[in-house]
Amino acid sequence: MSLLLCQKRSMHRSEITIDLGAVRRNVKTLLRALDGTGLWAVVKANGYGHGAVDVAGAALGSGARAVCVATVPEALELRHEFPAERIVVLGPAEGRDVAHARDAGLELCVSSSEIPDRVRVHLKLDTGMGRYGLSEVVEAPEIVGLMTHLATADSDREFALAQVERFEELTSSYAHLTRHVANSAAALRLPEARFDAARCGVAIYGLSPFGEDPSADGLEPALRWESHLAQVKLLQPGESTGYGRRFVAERPTWIGLVPVGYADGFPRAATGTTVRVAGEPCRVVGTISMDSLAVELARELPLGSPVVLVGHGVTLEQHAGVAGSINYELATRIETRPERARRLVIDS
Ligand SMILES: *Cc1c(COP(=O)(O)O)cnc(C)c1O
Repeated sequence: MSLLLCQKRSMHRSEITIDLGAVRRNVKTLLRALDGTGLWAVVKANGYGHGAVDVAGAALGSGARAVCVATVPEALELRHEFPAERIVVLGPAEGRDVAHARDAGLELCVSSSEIPDRVRVHLKLDTGMGRYGLSEVVEAPEIVGLMTHLATADSDREFALAQVERFEELTSSYAHLTRHVANSAAALRLPEARFDAARCGVAIYGLSPFGEDPSADGLEPALRWESHLAQVKLLQPGESTGYGRRFVAERPTWIGLVPVGYADGFPRAATGTTVRVAGEPCRVVGTISMDSLAVELARELPLGSPVVLVGHGVTLEQHAGVAGSINYELATRIETRPERARRLVIDS
């Protein structure tokens, strides 16, 4: 059994499993929280690293009314798979991209008073984010929606409410247009921001917009990342593992090497975080290399022992906390190309 396990696993350095069932359940959880407001699934950056087409299909199949991406090329890829769904491009588009958007029936978000013709447009208003956006509404027949983006929905409720209030002032006489403000954090915890639709990204993947344990908001992580021990060795006192000798054994210490490193998207700054080896929590020790990381084992374990990097209670939020980053960044950096990992899609 363990030899078989070893051989089977040795074919792939790691395995990334995307559970579309979890995406569906997260969409349902959000729909319940939204209480009648529409949900638009944000699948930019290849679905936050989870696979844009797979996640878009699952979200649309469980009640999302549109999908949102950042760029026209991202949208065109989805248009190919979803000929009839609403696809909204959140980022700015220029020149040839506008023509492509028109031809493909995409909807664009526009932050200037120059409204492209013959394409459906959402006018972006800056109510405090301080990035893209106009300070007041302009009128044009192409405009179907009015939107703004919240800077602090996950951290500063008062500022978020001030943005909502500003948006309401600017748009109250345009209530016939689709008004949308909320991201995941606001969809879950800021009812004032709901309006007609919420653009939810991180939460549909079961990640917490608050950097907390996602289960606090009833969310279920859709991504699992597993590997195995490729090498097990005993360090004697004074011996070290990895670049820079950042971990030096004080007593005889079993070390396991996992064939996953920062080139696979495991953050180099996450030394000290916890993963699971053969079901037991183990600390990541020493400097994380490009293709490998080390864990401290409580005892000798067989080669091929399963390692859970994310999943089964090990969260991206926890790794992000150690690495001084956020779950969004970690998720989008996980490398799912077949040269690096095996990617599986399941529907539980
Ligand atoms: C990415 C993005 C969202 C989604 O934010 P989450 O925090 O992932 O829910 C919503 N609106 C805009 C404009 C975005 O760029």
